[in-house]
Amino acid sequence: MRYSGWQVLAQGITGNRGWRPAWRDPAPKGAYDIVIIGGGGHGLATAHYLAKRHGLTNVAVLEKGYLGGGNVGRNTTIVRANYGLPGNSEFYSHSLKLWEGLEQDLNYNVMHSQRGVINLFHSDGQRDAAARRGNMMIAQGDDAILLDRDGCREILPYLDYDQTRFPIYGGLYHPRGGTARHDAVAWGFARAADRRGVDLIQNCEVTGIDIENGRVTGVQTTRGSIRAKKVGIVVAGRSSQVAAMAGMRLPIESHILQAFVTEGLKPVIDHVVTYGMGHFYISQSDKGGLVFGGDLDFYASYAARGNLPMAEHVVEAAMTLMPVIGQARMLRSWGGIMDMSPDGSPIIDRTHVEGLYLNCGWCYGGFKAVPGSGDCFAHLIATDQPHPAAARYRLDRFATGHGLMDEEGTGSQHNLH
Ligand SMILES: Cc1cc2nc3c(=O)[nH]c(=O)nc-3n(C[C@H](O)[C@H](O)[C@H](O)COP(=O)(O)OP(=O)(O)OC[C@H]3O[C@@H](n4cnc5c(N)ncnc54)[C@H](O)[C@@H]3O)c2cc1C
Repeated sequence: MRYSGWQVLAQGITGNRGWRPAWRDPAPKGAYDIVIIGGGGHGLATAHYLAKRHGLTNVAVLEKGYLGGGNVGRNTTIVRANYGLPGNSEFYSHSLKLWEGLEQDLNYNVMHSQRGVINLFHSDGQRDAAARRGNMMIAQGDDAILLDRDGCREILPYLDYDQTRFPIYGGLYHPRGGTARHDAVAWGFARAADRRGVDLIQNCEVTGIDIENGRVTGVQTTRGSIRAKKVGIVVAGRSSQVAAMAGMRLPIESHILQAFVTEGLKPVIDHVVTYGMGHFYISQSDKGGLVFGGDLDFYASYAARGNLPMAEHVVEAAMTLMPVIGQARMLRSWGGIMDMSPDGSPIIDRTHVEGLYLNCGWCYGGFKAVPGSGDCFAHLIATDQPHPAAARYRLDRFATGHGLMDEEGTGSQHNLH
């Protein structure tokens, strides 16, 4: 069924009896051409682009829990293309262009809102870095405007400009950046992939990867073994565990990142704002909740929940920049397990096992990457060639020292990616 205003009207006057589940719930078949491990944003987007761009539909996405239950439904929903590192700039630029046509492509309202992202700076040195980054964004074909203090005050009047510990010097404004509703992105890709014939199998944990003579032949799962000619691993915070099933030791650490939401308030924040001197960034959801996040908890764990020390750290930064937030009541906090790579950039590559492909290392920034990553990973799996926008996301850069790791090793610095 195609979603449209007419459909809402037609269903409304006929008792809403015609709606169908957004995707099927098939039993796993014994064999597929391609198995994607992980039903997060990246896995579902990969399945969609495999079917749409390459006509490959004998595909299964295997998800150990439910679709959208991982980081894709736990993030703070920021979508942007304001990267400065060669390799990353062109990839995120490609991804943002896909976002801009995504709702039409998926026939699904993912509530993509280009409300603008403003990265504040608080010193002359930070202003120079912001100007440099803005120029790189413009050179890449994206948009950037350098705001001075008065420019910030005009559009962000609720920040503290006068009593604050770190004065606001200005901000780098990226008007095409913004937000999207995170779980709707998972649902939209799931529905679109299902409509083209992809099997989405939930409650199906992969417990082993079958390899014969250096070639992948299938996977073991909690719902039986499934043969496959090609297998893609795209499991975010569980990447090291799943890759270990194929004998791989990845340069990935899993850490918890926390987010918070307040009670619903009247519209007050029109943009996404990031603080340049602390671990705090904020936007307002369409329901009115103030959504904000902070830094990683460096005590490594697979627990997808937050803890008080990190909450205090984030709230302290929030109160420094925006004391008015102290009036709002916090409703919920939660955590997600991040796949952190040493240089802050992702991996989209083949592996030493023929037919086995890897997509991971998205760190804090994998939500905005969802369409780009799905497109590039599908291209790699279908053609065995890297997509031009993701050509530098090679796994061997950590062994050779070439690529993003080398001259541009600044990627591991939080505010650079
Ligand atoms: C608090 C927080 C805030 C964030 N904010 C932003 C942001 O504002 N902007 C941004 O761009 N990014 C943000 N991110 C990062 C972004 O959410 C992630 O990088 C991205 O969602 C990861 O990719 P994914 O969606 O495919 O992951 P997931 O949704 O985690 O998908 C991986 C899936 O693999 C499944 N899986 C794992 N092991 C197995 C197995 N053995 N068998 C079968 N299935 C398995 C998991 O159950 C999971 O559903 C944030 C993350 C968090 C936690």
